[in-house]
Amino acid sequence: SGRWARAMAILREFEDKCGTPLGKLRQVADAMTVEMHAGLASEGGSKLKMLLSYVDNLPTGDEKGLFYALDLGGTNFRVIRVVLGGKDDRVVKQEFEEVSIPPHLMIGSSDALFDYIAEALAKFVATEDEGLHPLPGQQRELGFTFSFPVRQTSIASGTLIKWTKGFSIEDTVGEDVVGELTKAMERVGLDMRVAALVNDTIGTLAGGRYYNKDVIAAVILGTGTNAAYVERAQAIPKWNGLLPKSGEMVINMEWGNFRSSHLPLTEFDQALDVESLNPGEQIFEKLISGMYLGEIVRRVLLRMAQEAAFFGDVVPPKLEIPFILRTPHMSAMHHDTSSDLKVVGSKLKDILEISNTSLKMRKAIVELCDIVATRGARLSAAGIMGILKKLGRDAVKDGEKQKSVIALDGGLFEHYTKFRSSMESTLKELLGEEISESIIIEHSNDGSGIGAALLAASHSQYL
Ligand code: ADP
Ligand code: MG
Repeated sequence: SGRWARAMAILREFEDKCGTPLGKLRQVADAMTVEMHAGLASEGGSKLKMLLSYVDNLPTGDEKGLFYALDLGGTNFRVIRVVLGGKDDRVVKQEFEEVSIPPHLMIGSSDALFDYIAEALAKFVATEDEGLHPLPGQQRELGFTFSFPVRQTSIASGTLIKWTKGFSIEDTVGEDVVGELTKAMERVGLDMRVAALVNDTIGTLAGGRYYNKDVIAAVILGTGTNAAYVERAQAIPKWNGLLPKSGEMVINMEWGNFRSSHLPLTEFDQALDVESLNPGEQIFEKLISGMYLGEIVRRVLLRMAQEAAFFGDVVPPKLEIPFILRTPHMSAMHHDTSSDLKVVGSKLKDILEISNTSLKMRKAIVELCDIVATRGARLSAAGIMGILKKLGRDAVKDGEKQKSVIALDGGLFEHYTKFRSSMESTLKELLGEEISESIIIEHSNDGSGIGAALLAASHSQYL
């Protein structure tokens, strides 16, 4: 019928605009490399902030003692306790608790958010085993993973540049987030010192390196997306400070804010951006990360409903609600292997209150999920390729095969199997057979939390 043809025309046109052939991905990778150079050359020199982390030593394995971490970076935060036993024993004990953040606190006041976090932390600390307490007179130490763009001023202080990922709290912007947390801990009577402030990518890098010395970069694919890597201090022209003994510095790229004319942006992405909390910002993130993939699918489906009566004469009201279709729902539909696509059917019914979908319609929806996920996955691979190029690790040098391990973490990477395998195979395509063997993607499970605790240990006041 005419309706079906119109709906398919919308889908095909979208597919066309989302195309990521290898040539385009190479352009994206090259643009990433160029922007990395520009961001390292001068402050504000690029959309890529290329922030100094003040982490110039990654964990070695020798770290010892009781440490805490707090991981705040999305819809949930985690409190973590680890006992480190040094070289042979490594992580002797590890406990954590996950707490979700009520939506009103994501857009309320700074004090309210940090009080909520400090209270949860205090409760968790109260469950510490008898034999574990710090020595008399010693403070507990915490690694704070705070996964929003921060201008770091030392290893344990930094001011918030802006919120992302659905947070919007005016009075935190420009403040030292360690100060905000410390004041809240004082208000709830918790005696704890923040020893390291890091980003989840840096935590993941530290956690990855603790177990594998070939880890050179970390990428997060979760609610948002970001990357960090180890740079030569000499290659950071904008840095005026003393060169660290190690000769290295971890750089927090804030790659979510990358943009390039080579990115395959559609009108749906443009509309999503304009209507978002941070228009014009985080364009790469809006193509790739878990916060947005489901929303892009919803927008295309809504267009198909409005302009081609894809779901019948009435546009399903639920389909008009922004962010109602979340990426885990999309992923569940995309992975539906049943012959009648019953998962797709039940998601449509449960979330969008759309019933009586035909198999043909369900297939089209799975295809739509595939288009959106594949584009995101392939662009992530291009981003990683950009980092490898910057480090000169994208090709075999002098016949020598140096191993490069990239630590990956985040719910999207962990749970969205088709996204993950598309990303991994695209990276292989970009690298080619030979060098592919020495570039390894490694899942670093909750590396960000453990990594922050490890960095607290290596920056302890009691060393
Ligand atoms: P955060 O990024 O908020 O710190 P996570 O790394 O755990 O937390 O990532 C959570 C995100 O991962 C969710 O917002 C969601 O977008 C994505 N995600 C979680 N589960 C799935 C899933 N089953 N399929 C696809 N995406 C998922
Ligand atoms: Mg996270």
